[in-house]
Order: sequence, then C-alpha cells, then structure tokens
Amino acid sequence: MRVLICGAGIAGLTLAWWLRRAGAEVTVVEKATGPRSDGYMIDFFGSGYDVAERMGILDALGEVAADITELTYADRHGRRSGGLCYASFTAMLDGRVLSLMRGDLEATLRSALDDGTEIRYGTSVSAVRDVPGGVDVELTDGDVRRADVLVGADGIHSVVRRLVFGPEEGFLHPLGYHTASYLFDDAELAEEVGRRFLLVGVPGRQAGLYPTRSGALAASLVHASAATGPPARPRAEVLAAYRGLGPMIDRVLAHCPEDPYYDRVAQIRMPGWSKGRVTLLGDAAHAVSLMAGQGSSMAMGGAYTLATELLGAGVEAALDRYERRMRPFALDKQRSGRNTAEWMVPHRAWRITVRNRLFGLAELPGGTAVMGRGLKRLGSSVVTAAK
Ligand SMILES: Cc1cc2nc3c(=O)[nH]c(=O)nc-3n(C[C@H](O)[C@H](O)[C@H](O)COP(=O)(O)OP(=O)(O)OC[C@H]3O[C@@H](n4cnc5c(N)ncnc54)[C@H](O)[C@@H]3O)c2cc1C
Repeated sequence: MRVLICGAGIAGLTLAWWLRRAGAEVTVVEKATGPRSDGYMIDFFGSGYDVAERMGILDALGEVAADITELTYADRHGRRSGGLCYASFTAMLDGRVLSLMRGDLEATLRSALDDGTEIRYGTSVSAVRDVPGGVDVELTDGDVRRADVLVGADGIHSVVRRLVFGPEEGFLHPLGYHTASYLFDDAELAEEVGRRFLLVGVPGRQAGLYPTRSGALAASLVHASAATGPPARPRAEVLAAYRGLGPMIDRVLAHCPEDPYYDRVAQIRMPGWSKGRVTLLGDAAHAVSLMAGQGSSMAMGGAYTLATELLGAGVEAALDRYERRMRPFALDKQRSGRNTAEWMVPHRAWRITVRNRLFGLAELPGGTAVMGRGLKRLGSSVVTAAK
C-alpha cells in the first residue's frame, strides 16, 4: 500500500510509524523546512498515552517529560490564589499521564520512525486528482505522486481539506479566544517560577508561565477576542492584549518574539472526513481546541485507528470504519472543549474565584477521586474502546 501523508506533525508521524511497521510505502510531505520545536506543554493522557504505550515509546517520552510540581493560580502580584499539586493530578489518572512539550513529543515520534520513511520538508500538496484505483497528488516541488490513499494530517489550516472539501471558513468555528506561545531565556525569572506552572488570570485573559527541561521558560497566553482573522503583527497584539497583568507578566511580554506561535482558538467541524481515497486526520479533521486539552492525544488516537483500519481491508471501507470509530470521541472532546472554555479563561471575576477554589478540593479527602472521574472521562480512549 502506498500512502502519502501531508503534515509531519503529531498525527502524521504517528500514522507513518504504524503504517511502516506493517510494511506500507509511506511518504510524508511537510510544509516547514525542518523539524519544529515550538509549541506549548500538553498534559498527555487518554488515547495518545495508550498509543504511545503500544508503540513502546513511553520510556523515551518519560525522559523528555517536563518536571512540573504544581499548577498555581496567582494574582497580578504573584500571590497564590489556588492550585493543584501535580502528584494529585497524576494520581487522578492512575499515573497514566505525562507533561510534554509539543516539540518533544514530535521529536520522539520522529526518532521512532525507521529509515525507510521518506519525509520531504519544505514541500506541500498543490493539487489532487482521482484516477482509477488511486489518487494523483501534485506536490509544490512539481513532483506528482500516485498513492492508494492521501491523508491530510496538516493541522487546523489544512491545505488538503481546502483542496478536496472546500474553503476553511466552511468548517472552522472560532471559540472566541486567541492564543500565543513562545519560549525564552530569563534566568532570574526562571528562579522565581521554580517548577511551577503559573497562571495569572483576569476576566477574558490568562497568561501562563512554566519552565522547560532545557532551563528556558515557556509562555502560554489565551485571551478573548472576537477578531475572526489573525492579526497582521502578532507581537503587537500580544503586547496590547496582556498589558496590566502585573510585573511578572510584563517581564514575560518583554521577551515576546516577532513571530510567536499565534492562532485563533477554534474547532474544525465537518460532516464527513473522507472523499474517495482522500481522508483527514487529527486537527485537519476535528480540531478540538486547546480548551479541550486533547488535540495531540486525539491526533495519535486517530492515527492508530486509521492505520489499523487501512491495513485490514479495501481503502473506502477502511476510511468509513475509521470515521465511525473515531467520530464519537472527537465530538465528545469538542463538546467538553466548548463547555470548559468559560472555566479555563473566564469572562467574569467570580468564575475565576470559584475555579481557583475548586482546584483546592483535590487536596481534600476524596477530592482526588471525584476530580479524577471527570478527568478520566475527558481522557476516554479510542484505543481501549470496543470496535
Ligand atoms: C509548531 C506548532 C506549534 C503549536 N503550538 C500550539 C500551541 O501553542 N497551542 C495549541 O493549542 N496548539 C498548538 N499547536 C497545535 C497542536 O499541536 C495540535 O492541536 C495537535 O498536536 C494535533 O496534531 P496534528 O498533527 O493534527 O496537527 P499539528 O500538530 O498542527 O501538525 C500539523 C503539521 O502539518 C504541517 N502543515 C501545515 N500546513 C501544511 C501544508 N500546507 N503542507 C504540508 N504540511 C503542512 C505543520 O507544519 C505541522 O507539522 C501547534 C502546532 C504546531 C505545528
């Protein structure tokens, strides 16, 4: 089987691994000119954790896992107003969770691939044509590849989706927030932050700050915005949006690069993920948004599901079964993403107070079990679900 995957992100690399393991011929094309290390920290549990376990890469991921001891909600002056220690969080998920930088997860998946996997950086898809028994994919470097299946694993702004299913606006649903993230070095601030994941929030805005393994600091910012397009100058937008969150966040802003990762917080909702021999995977098909906290995990769960189906039967039947297995999970995470948004970055001060206090419940007797039930539901896994 010849499979062309567009996008060497979390979904694309996971799919490549599973298909190569079964002997498929796999080419991955990636728009970026080389591996990318940027991105934010993810709490990695549920489907993604289960898939990683089956790939035998949990130890490698453990080695690159972030060493965070506490999630701390702080006010503008850095005073603690609530939080949760990571040991409680881990206990809620029976230890089956890792805190990972997105770039470290991607790098670990890439190194798990065998030498026979072709990854062409700096290349994308420019046209797609159905031909009898296959699909012809024209690449941006002028090459034309015939494949049995084309998989669009090219993220929320997927080009495969645009070429085959239509313009992005038909499928992208903004949740009313924008997000930015970047890494920077500041030894003095790093000392102050320690091993905490610090969150400073006021209505409609939340700035997160945490250490990475390399000693750098990471900023993770979310603010309410009705703007439907990305700003022309992301740095200027970041500086304007997060001003007034106190001296610590002012210092974080001073490190903002010209081109931080910046995007609208949005979901992709589509009536169907496949057309003929073309299918979508991960964020391209069903982005759940950072509010659901399950994007990478769902990308890996989807890749595993698609691979197992493709290796079993004819392409169109396989694509149909992949979607039938995966869609209920995607819809469920999207629903929880919409429901939790107002609690993750509240528009009202009272909600911030209530949320911060609720986190303290985890430290009370029985609290871990109660909160753990909610988390486990959020992390319900396509891998362990019955077919
Ligand atoms: C560099 C980076 C940083 C991110 N940081 C954040 C963050 O801070 N917060 C957040 O909520 N989400 C972030 N995300 C999105 C998050 O990683 C995804 O929600 C999640 O991992 C789902 O995985 P995915 O493989 O479906 O998509 P992604 O991880 O987005 O991977 C898609 C891949 O496709 C590539 N690609 C895109 N367009 C094309 C194209 N036209 N042709 C070929 N390749 C293409 C991308 O470069 C990327 O490698 C980031 C994604 C990237 C790529």
